[in-house]
Amino acid sequence: MGMLQPRNPNTFANYPLDRAGHRRKDAGWLSEALTRDDAQICAFRKDQPLVAEGASGLTPVWLGPAVLGLADKASPVIFLGLDASGAPHFAVSMGVRFNLDDSPLAGLGGFEDLRGSAPSLSDHACAILGCAKSLLDWHRRHRFCAHCGAPTDPAEGGWKRVCAGCATEHFPRVDPVVIMLPVRGDRALVGRQERFPPGMYSALAGFVEPGESLEEAVAREVLEEVGLTVRSARYLHAQPWPYPSQLMIGMIAEVLFDEDLVLEDEIAEAVWLTRAEASAALAGGATLSDGRRVFAPPRLAIAHHLLKAWAEEP
Ligand SMILES: [Zn+2]
Repeated sequence: MGMLQPRNPNTFANYPLDRAGHRRKDAGWLSEALTRDDAQICAFRKDQPLVAEGASGLTPVWLGPAVLGLADKASPVIFLGLDASGAPHFAVSMGVRFNLDDSPLAGLGGFEDLRGSAPSLSDHACAILGCAKSLLDWHRRHRFCAHCGAPTDPAEGGWKRVCAGCATEHFPRVDPVVIMLPVRGDRALVGRQERFPPGMYSALAGFVEPGESLEEAVAREVLEEVGLTVRSARYLHAQPWPYPSQLMIGMIAEVLFDEDLVLEDEIAEAVWLTRAEASAALAGGATLSDGRRVFAPPRLAIAHHLLKAWAEEP
C-alpha cells in the first residue's frame, strides 16, 4: 500500500488500513464493495464494538453484508478502508434497542467498552475500532447543521455530512490537545488531580485554543497549571484518543530553572522525578526520598510513553 508510518508507541495510533480516500466519493464503488464476499463489517452499539474472545485476547467480530439489514438506518455505513488483500472494511451502528441475544448475531461475541477492552485487543484492532468509534459518535452528535439548523445527511462513506437546507459541508472533527512533560535538567515534572487513583501522577494537558500554535498552548498550560515558564517545546508523537475525538499531541517542555511551582486548583500535587524514579514509576511504582509513592499511567495513555521516552533519553 506504500504507506509510510513512523513508529508510534500509542494505542489507537498506527492505523493499519489503506483509507483509500479516493473511493469515498465513488458511491457506485462503495455500494458494490458492501455486497462483496470479502467485505468486513464491524458493528457497534452505544459506542461499544462487537468483540469476541480469541486465542490471544479479544478480537473484533468481522461480519458480512447480511449485518447491514440489522443496523440502525439512521446511522451511516462508515468506509474504513482496505486491508493488504484489498478487502473493504466498514463499520455500522446498531440501534440502542438492538438485542444481541435475540438476533442472528447471538453467540458471536458481546458489545464491550472499547477503553476497557483496548489492553486485550491487538494494536491494529484498537486503531480501526477507535477510528470507527470516533466517526460513529460524530455522526450521532452532528445530525443538524451548525450554520442553519436544518438536518444533515451523511455522505462520502461517512467522512462528511451535508446540510439539506443550506448545502454546507461538515467534516468529522478532531480536537487537538497538548500533553506535555515539563523538564528541567535531569528532572521531569508530573502532577496529579484529585480524581486520579491514589499515587498516580501524569503529564500536564490542555486543549489547544483558537489562534495558538502547539508551542504557545504548551507554554500557556504549563504556566496556568504549575506556574512555570516554558523556554522551548518539542513534539514527540501523538495519540488519536476516541473519547470522543481528541488528538493527544505529546510534547517535552523545557522550563526555566529558577522558578517555584504555583499549582492551580485542578492540580492537587506535582513532583519532580529523576530518570531513575520515572523508570521505577513506569515499572510499577517509585518511592521518593520523602516517602511518597508514585506510579505512572498505564500503557494505554500517551503520558506513559512520554515519561518512558524521557526516562530512556541518553
Ligand atoms: Zn445548513
